[in-house]
Amino acid sequence: MSDNPALSAAVAAGRLLPIYILDDKNAGNYRMGGASRWWLHHSLNALNSSLGGKLRVYCGDAAEILPKLAQETGARTVTWNRCYEPWRVQRDKKILAELKQSGIEAISMNGSLLREPWDVRKADGTPYRVFTPYFRKGYLERPVPEKPLSSPEKIMFFDGDTIESTAAISDLGLLPSNWDLKKPTVWKPGEKGAQDRLHHFLDNGLEGYNKGRNYPAAENCSYLSPHLHFGEISPRQVSYALPFREQSVQCEEDLRQFRMELVWREFSHSLLYFSPELPHKNLQEKFDSFSWRKDPADLQAWQKGQTGIPIVDAGMRELWQTGFMHNRVRMVAASFLVKNLMIDWREGARWFWDCLIDADLANNSASWQWVAGCGADAAPFFRIFNPATQGTRFDPQGDYTRKYVPELAALPDKWLFNPWDAPQTVLKEANVTLGETYPHPIVDLKISRQRALDAYAALKSAD
Ligand code: FAD
Repeated sequence: MSDNPALSAAVAAGRLLPIYILDDKNAGNYRMGGASRWWLHHSLNALNSSLGGKLRVYCGDAAEILPKLAQETGARTVTWNRCYEPWRVQRDKKILAELKQSGIEAISMNGSLLREPWDVRKADGTPYRVFTPYFRKGYLERPVPEKPLSSPEKIMFFDGDTIESTAAISDLGLLPSNWDLKKPTVWKPGEKGAQDRLHHFLDNGLEGYNKGRNYPAAENCSYLSPHLHFGEISPRQVSYALPFREQSVQCEEDLRQFRMELVWREFSHSLLYFSPELPHKNLQEKFDSFSWRKDPADLQAWQKGQTGIPIVDAGMRELWQTGFMHNRVRMVAASFLVKNLMIDWREGARWFWDCLIDADLANNSASWQWVAGCGADAAPFFRIFNPATQGTRFDPQGDYTRKYVPELAALPDKWLFNPWDAPQTVLKEANVTLGETYPHPIVDLKISRQRALDAYAALKSAD
């Protein structure tokens, strides 16, 4: 309700008819995944209760429903906050044209980015493809964005009939039948949950964020990504809540890093906006001939957290059980899929799309291309994470890995991330039998690393 420009504009224009349309038809391949639908169900319920039960929900083609509804209700103005998924951009252009043709005022606004993609471009008008100058020119050297809006004080609702049939939120069938989060209480979808998360982060996570954000067992991250994605909090609100003056050198680094992460989100949206093929096409064309392996068994082992590589399995199980995965582990698990298993990044992106509560077409596609080395300003392909070393470095006490891979819990730290190297006596004492209680690694890390480097070298020589 707060910092929602479309809502504030609509309230200022007259009586409000708040609506949500679940539009799977236009989404095509990018229909929301299971975890996102779970979130959406709860988020819509939270929004509906903030609106005193006045939210009307529809299911179908928004390009048909919205103009029809506007006509039927005699609406003079229709407002919405802009989305940046290519299919939504196309659809919303169509809606805008149709409303205008019917003499209805259509206003689209910026509710979810600090700056619109078209407002941060190079001097020659082309979009940035490299993050650092984008960050510097677009954010560091420009004044902070305008102040967030407060919630509308008083809302007058439209209470006439609508001919279009409306559904209850529960009729949208958003809750999955074959999958549910084991710990739904960890997450509180909705505006209040978002504000609570923000304040918890400011009090407990921000100090030490710069270093702590790399450690999955630490509590330094904000966990704001699903709230930001669903528009329950805006990046303006997050930016404005950050302390204005840094109290110490340490905190200054923490603030700078956190602001930078918010801008990575903006950068991903800019990439998607200017390269709508981002979710399905390598931004670096030379990768089009990369020899990805098709191996359903390996892919399934990765999806289920049964690769025999403990930090990767911990991440994939965290994802399945909670709908979330810590950023450091996302990078390690994604690198393992793309490089050690040499499976196409689009397979990984598809799995994340279905399982992440923060699944976001811009962030997910840009991050997968970044890890795979084929994106804009991406990590070079030849930089391949060693997941055993990453585990030792970023989960030094093993708390995170033991939580999600309990069958290895009794192993000493020294062997937790490479149980295949542990002496038999150690394994026996920890009740671990590789191949029975926990899988043998599905690939040898050294050999698979070399295989990936060879495939990359072949690509380079074909250049
Ligand atoms: P914090 O560290 O607290 O960061 C604050 C906010 O900054 C986040 O909420 C997020 O909105 C933004 N942010 C942080 N890191 C990134 C990043 N690398 N790229 C873009 N925005 C960022 N993030 C998503 O929101 N949706 C996705 O679908 C998604 N898929 C990813 C897939 C892969 C393979 C990888 C490596 C990363 C992906 N990320 C995605 C980025 C990142 O992992 C998450 O944004 C972050 O883990 C969310 O946790 P947080 O809110 O605690 O982040």
